[in-house]
Amino acid sequence: MKIGIPAETRAGETRVAATPETVKKLAAGGAQVLVQRGAGSAARYPDEAYAAAGAALADGAADVYAHADLLLKVRAPTADELPLLRAGQAVVGMLDPFDAAGLAALAATGATGFALEAAPRITRAQSLDVLSSQANIAGYKAVILAADHLGRFMPMLMTAAGTVKAARVVVLGAGVAGLQAIATAKRLGAVVEASDVRPAAKEQVESLGAKFIDVPFETDEEREIAQGAGGYARPMPAAWMARQAALVSERCKQADIVVATALIPGRPAPVLVSEDTVRGMKPGSVIVDLAVERGGNCPLSAPDQIVEHHGVTLIGYTNLPARVATDASALYARNVLDFLKLIVADGSLAIRRDDEIVAACLVCEDRNVLRK
Ligand code: NAD
Repeated sequence: MKIGIPAETRAGETRVAATPETVKKLAAGGAQVLVQRGAGSAARYPDEAYAAAGAALADGAADVYAHADLLLKVRAPTADELPLLRAGQAVVGMLDPFDAAGLAALAATGATGFALEAAPRITRAQSLDVLSSQANIAGYKAVILAADHLGRFMPMLMTAAGTVKAARVVVLGAGVAGLQAIATAKRLGAVVEASDVRPAAKEQVESLGAKFIDVPFETDEEREIAQGAGGYARPMPAAWMARQAALVSERCKQADIVVATALIPGRPAPVLVSEDTVRGMKPGSVIVDLAVERGGNCPLSAPDQIVEHHGVTLIGYTNLPARVATDASALYARNVLDFLKLIVADGSLAIRRDDEIVAACLVCEDRNVLRK
């Protein structure tokens, strides 16, 4: 079997789906690996390292697509890449399972698609969980960027020229990205508070030394919805959201940095930081909105831009993992390698359809989109 690693083509995408480390393991397993020249350069993995790991190098994407039985991608194929795919090929990547039009276009090529984001959040899937590996990086980088844009220190400092107070950080959404944002901000010495709808998040937030912004449940319905489904949050009733907004607004007004990560799968991001709240925030404070691609937790943030409103800097980068490309690729490539164990055996494609992880990730086959 030939496994192809084309260069990613989306603007700003610096990651690569296989590293020399994973190529070496694929080659040792009997696969022939074909890497497009330059595929790893933005992530600092040079062509020579791939060749040393056992890959053959291809001069262009067309060559990789023409020869590969299985393509390893970071992002879903673009309009330029789709015509290069054909029936009988398989593609593994972050294929955006909620993008119906994108999946239909991929299905139309006849290729079999595996969207890694659709893997269930179960213990066995942890080593191939791309949402976790990449969200972890996003949470870290969000805090580093915010610290860079803040005209203040993060830690409390006692100097000969006087004492500087520790920065106050509010993290909205304590999933994988939010928890790493909390941990990173704590390591830098900030005082951290966090909000989440899921009651299970409280203990996790507190175990990192941050304060949980508690929005009490007033009805059994609120408590039931807040439990979420499959570990994911569900939209909360308006009354709870209004109480949360009031509390979050009060906390944001005291904050130097707000890292907003709140998401509900397949839905627009909940608005947690209104323009009124931004207006009330301290001049020079910074909001990093990780939910910007899905409309943002703050309506003032703009995708892939840094904007300023009411004296507050809003950072809206949509692809923070691509700004930590070496480690983001290393972890992503290991996730991919782990997933391949479920669809490759003895050097050929052997899709284990009865496996719940495979079944969840399989999004198109035989020109059909498989709805979950
Ligand atoms: P996500 O990116 O979908 O959402 C981020 C966070 O936003 C979530 O914690 C969610 O509860 C929160 N949120 C949604 N609406 C909110 C609101 N109005 N206010 C505040 N917060 C709000 O989540 P994720 O990081 O992908 O994690 C989803 C779940 O999966 C979590 O329960 C996590 O612990 C779990 N998980 C399990 C495994 C595993 O066992 N294999 C691995 C990773 C994550």
